[in-house]
Amino acid sequence: MTLKRLSPEDPRLRQVCEDMSLAELRRKEMQKTIDSLLDFVFQRNNKGPAHNKKKPTIIGLSANQVGVMKRICIVDLAIRRKGYSEIHVLVNPHITWRSKTMQLRKEGCVNLPNIWGYVPRSIKIDVSYLDRWGNSYEMRAVGWAATLIQHEVDHLNGLLFIDRIEDPKKALHVEESDFLAYKKDPKKWDKYIDVSKLTRAISK
Ligand SMILES: [Zn+2]
Repeated sequence: MTLKRLSPEDPRLRQVCEDMSLAELRRKEMQKTIDSLLDFVFQRNNKGPAHNKKKPTIIGLSANQVGVMKRICIVDLAIRRKGYSEIHVLVNPHITWRSKTMQLRKEGCVNLPNIWGYVPRSIKIDVSYLDRWGNSYEMRAVGWAATLIQHEVDHLNGLLFIDRIEDPKKALHVEESDFLAYKKDPKKWDKYIDVSKLTRAISK
């Protein structure tokens, strides 16, 4: 199955993905779907320059971002480590505890190309989940990993990072050709885009 990212306006990005039963998870079809999600994060069907076998091209993906309405996300927790990956398939993930201490990190999203923003999130979280075979776990995530998991669990609850940025009228706008320049000094970036029509009010 070749998956495609949904456009920013697609209503499936705003749906809550409910928990899956163990029986459904263990079905052959569902295991194949999980393989397809992994193919997507590694861009295995893309023969262009983004193709990379060892390190995923996409550090986080929730199933509903590509139209699979199941409570599954994939994260690479070796976020900043070049050539090394630590892939987790999180099934039925739920954040069971969030630290009151917050961090501000820049985020982007597969469904929102060229849009970036600084998002306040808890610096530490606990998350409960099943692996793809149905074994249950609880994980404490800190720093970048905590941000990434909160971003993905938001997706599964129908939320996008732009719902949480300070001013959706001034999200950062970075064309692909400008990305290296942006990365050098993201705090000084001064090109903006109004994404307020795409956001949804949430209780922060
Ligand atoms: Zn995203």
